[in-house]
Amino acid sequence: MESTDPVRPKAPRTRRTAGGLHVARAVAARSWDTGSVRLLLVEDEDAIAEPLAEGLRREGFVVERVATGKAALEVAEPDLVLLDLGLPDTDGFSVCRELRSRSSVPIIMVTAKGEEVDRVVGLEVGADDYMVKPFGIRELVARIRAVTRRTGERRAAQGAVRIGPLELDTRSRRVFVEGAEIDLTPKEFDLLALLASDPGAVVSRARILQEVWQTTWFGSAKTIDVHVAALRRKLGHPSWIETVRGVGLRLHVPT
Ligand code: CA
Repeated sequence: MESTDPVRPKAPRTRRTAGGLHVARAVAARSWDTGSVRLLLVEDEDAIAEPLAEGLRREGFVVERVATGKAALEVAEPDLVLLDLGLPDTDGFSVCRELRSRSSVPIIMVTAKGEEVDRVVGLEVGADDYMVKPFGIRELVARIRAVTRRTGERRAAQGAVRIGPLELDTRSRRVFVEGAEIDLTPKEFDLLALLASDPGAVVSRARILQEVWQTTWFGSAKTIDVHVAALRRKLGHPSWIETVRGVGLRLHVPT
């Protein structure tokens, strides 16, 4: 069918290894881990939904598909919603409005060709983006990525960061692991917040010293190690903070 790109089987994905030996390779291999993104596909037409879900799964996403608005509202909060406008029980706008009233989950509205007028309404009811059928998997993945990044930045700016079992509230400066609050010193919090501002990215020691300790004094490097050790212990998951030898640190929380 014309609505999807020819989907080629991908080479098996290399799983990340938390152990120190494979860190360098893992950093290079992981620009964006789609496997940690749970998509909710709301689409009533099997002929569209099935190849789309299949294509997205091949891209590594975790996909749950439902066919009605009612079912969409019953699913535990996904990371992103692909929402068809024309649904059998209700319309996509109502579902979008309802979802938006209770969460900031990114929503991409999907409509049939020629419904250009809906674009404005879709964005007004809180959709983050809008796509017109038919579209290719690649274009969709690019949009998903862009929307995920934008909403991630928006949430960070609002002060709440959630990465799998780790939650940070930068306004109240509280941290939770698996729902349980942990007690951090101010510098430990600043360090964790800096790493959490871009999970998976390596943050250099120079930048950490500058942003957390407002210094570039090389001798303070040991200070970082002391705080990292304490942070690893308090988080209860030492592997979450990875040391990238000669470069810096990165936060890697399995989601
Ligand atoms: Ca439909």
